[in-house]
Amino acid sequence: MKAKLFFLFLLIPFINSYAQPKGDPKLTEIWSPVPKVIVPGKTVTIDAPSDAIILFREKKDSINWISKKGKPFNWKADDSGITVVPFAEDAEYSAEEKQKNAVQGLQTKQAFGDCQLHIEWKTPLVVKGDGQGRGNSGVLFMGRYELQILDSYNNLTYSNGQAGSVYKQYMPMVNVCRPPGEWQSYDIIFIAPQFKNDSTLKSPARMTVFQNGVLIQNNVELWGSMQFIGIPKYEVHAAKEPLLLQDHRNPVSFRNIWIREL
Ligand code: MG
Repeated sequence: MKAKLFFLFLLIPFINSYAQPKGDPKLTEIWSPVPKVIVPGKTVTIDAPSDAIILFREKKDSINWISKKGKPFNWKADDSGITVVPFAEDAEYSAEEKQKNAVQGLQTKQAFGDCQLHIEWKTPLVVKGDGQGRGNSGVLFMGRYELQILDSYNNLTYSNGQAGSVYKQYMPMVNVCRPPGEWQSYDIIFIAPQFKNDSTLKSPARMTVFQNGVLIQNNVELWGSMQFIGIPKYEVHAAKEPLLLQDHRNPVSFRNIWIREL
């Protein structure tokens, strides 16, 4: 019995390193400077132009989306918008998957490369949690390149992880967030990365972002796909990939989502 216990004790470090992602996520947090807070104008909505693909305008548009695991639409939907049903509450995921830090969410059936995206979002009116645990979601272009969504209204976190950041790559130029429970918008120009025949990078992804009509990212060159731990890097992928809305276990809502292919 003692020998068995000793053997288990020897295994603990290996079990731990298998179960946990390696490294310290704090190493890639930037806390200073803190983007200046400004107040946006009143209007956030822009109606879709005639050549846009409507991803969500009313409940029936939920047909355009599937879960990242390929299951049918599994968030809440009505004509006013769609809301994250945290995967922690979703029977689709095993206990093991719920433990992992892998990005979960809802993705478009259609794949996109270079695009202009309009999306409106709001974080819960009733504030729960703080820092990264408060109204966290994200828009992940090609399922990889994350524009952060967070309740960053009087909610300090690392600057390169607040709302409007290209997560852990670029902090927003200003903090132009509305209070929790109010709709706000992102208008984004996303340029997909290109890869050479040998799978190395030819040109990086780029992003320009307006939040509530204010420029917050000006044609920034991405370092690679979103990484919670460690340095972002590129991995070759298709020229078009689905757009993903992140399920970070917070009930964030979305509406008026439309996209133009460039
Ligand atoms: Mg996020």
